[in-house]
Amino acid sequence: MSDELNDLYQEIILDHHRRPRNRGELPVPPATVGLGYNPLCGDELNVYVQTDGGRITDLKFSGQGCAISQASASLMTQRVKGKTIAEAHAEFADVKALLTGESDLPIAVEERLGDIIALKGVRKFVARVKCATLAWHALESALAHSGPVSTE
Ligand code: ZN
Repeated sequence: MSDELNDLYQEIILDHHRRPRNRGELPVPPATVGLGYNPLCGDELNVYVQTDGGRITDLKFSGQGCAISQASASLMTQRVKGKTIAEAHAEFADVKALLTGESDLPIAVEERLGDIIALKGVRKFVARVKCATLAWHALESALAHSGPVSTE
C-alpha cells in the first residue's frame, strides 16, 4: 500500500472517530439493540436498529472504545442505513473478507465498500480486527432480535 493511500485511510478513520455519524440511541422497543464487547481491547458498543418490512430504516450506536472500534461503528451505520437486512448481512460478509480474507478482494468489491476500505490496514494487526468488526457483530445481534421479516 502506498504511503499516500495510507494517509487517506488514516484521515477517514480519524474523521469518523472525531465526528461519529449516527451516534446516539433509539427507543427500545420499537428498536432493538445489540451489544458488542471486545475484552481484548475494552471496546463496548450498543447498536440500535429500527426495521420496517425487512429494511433498516434507522440505526444508531453508543458506547466507548478505541478509535478503530468507534470509527468502524460510524462507518457501519452510514453504510447500512436504508439497506435491507439481507444487504446488511452481505456487507458484513464483504467486511469480514476485507479484514480476515486470505487474499485481497477483487477491485469491484473494494470499490463497493466505499469508505469502509479505510479499515483495510487493520488486517495486518490481528488483535485490531476484533475492534473493527465489533460494530458489525452488534448489528447482527440487534437484527436477530428485530421483528419478523416481511417479504413484501
Ligand atoms: Zn479496540
